Amino acid sequence: MIPYGRHDINQEDIDAVIDVLHSDYLTQGPTVPAFEQSVAGYCDVRYAVAVNSATSALHIACLALGVSSGDIVWTTPITFVASANCALYCGASIDFVDIDPRTSNMSVDRLSEKLAQAKKNGSLPKVVIPVHLCGQSCDMKAIHKLGTQYGFRIVEDASHAIGGKFRDEPIGSCRYSDITVFSFHPVKIITTGEGGMALTNDSKLAKQMQLLRSHGITRDVSELSQDSDGPWYYQQIDLGFNYRMTDIQAAIGLSQLRRLDEFVSKRHVIAKRYDSLLPDLPVVVTWQDPESYSGFHLYVIRLKLEEITNSHLKVFKELRNKGIGVNLHYIPVYRQPYYEQFGFKAGYCPEAEKYYSEAISLPMYPRLTEMQQDEVISALSSVLKKC
Ligand SMILES: *Cc1c(COP(=O)(O)O)cnc(C)c1O
Repeated sequence: MIPYGRHDINQEDIDAVIDVLHSDYLTQGPTVPAFEQSVAGYCDVRYAVAVNSATSALHIACLALGVSSGDIVWTTPITFVASANCALYCGASIDFVDIDPRTSNMSVDRLSEKLAQAKKNGSLPKVVIPVHLCGQSCDMKAIHKLGTQYGFRIVEDASHAIGGKFRDEPIGSCRYSDITVFSFHPVKIITTGEGGMALTNDSKLAKQMQLLRSHGITRDVSELSQDSDGPWYYQQIDLGFNYRMTDIQAAIGLSQLRRLDEFVSKRHVIAKRYDSLLPDLPVVVTWQDPESYSGFHLYVIRLKLEEITNSHLKVFKELRNKGIGVNLHYIPVYRQPYYEQFGFKAGYCPEAEKYYSEAISLPMYPRLTEMQQDEVISALSSVLKKC
């Protein structure tokens, strides 16, 4: 089976882990801060807080922005559940903004309309979480402008997008947001096994997230409510978690980061080749903003169902039967059974549901060979029987 995504681990990554295993620190040593500084440097952002997953990063990002019960958070329905769950962890409620059918990212027009309506109802969101689906940035300039107008804060879920750019700025620079989150899960662009990071230019947010990732405990004298009892002393000043990244993970991340640009450019080569091979088939490829640069975590096509005899499900199953590990990113989050309790019904975001009925993620990862890619195309051609 050709998988839809795959990590790329080389001998340098392995050696980096072995070095940590021979060192004094397996966790909370020098490698996590080194990885944080390297990512911050790469993204041209002031602070980076490494954690054990993007899910944890989203959670502490929301907490640092003060999200709590009574607050409302908005995200896109076409994302992994973690982008929405983070609001629920904080006791807030969640709502969804329909997608732009061209990019499948959160639609700025729908966002704008929904904000105007929410203002009338007194139900404006505290935080909006745009997700850079497949690695292509949302229109952050426009979303930021709405944020200023309506007074919401912004967390970019850039789990798909490290190595990409919005206009000329690296995704992660937080030029148009409060916090940006990356995932280092093995299917993502670079990996640490499990891992994530939250980036920000705001020193207070950075400090709060550092506190929350490690039990809410501080040893910083300036933060203590009383004089230290002695050299062993620390204080818990907030309710935090153990969301720490290990030095073992950070070593892989640091080593992977050196190949990030190469990974993303390989993904672009593969995407261009798909773009050139697909036009004869009854599918729509995702529109790419020529002014931005995608991380290309995923390559999603949409079937032109009216031009083919097979159903979406049949095409998907037949591709799997032919050894093509296609996938579907994503089921609209509010269609999950857990979300029924919040009153969401079928038809809530029509563009997202249409997307879900047509989308297929084709295999996309740096080591995908031309031969494998040809196999994907030929399997696709044979299952897309035209009417
Ligand atoms: C993978 C992913 C996450 C969660 O990442 P983890 O590191 O596995 O917690 C969150 N949001 C999106 C959009 C993702 O793709």
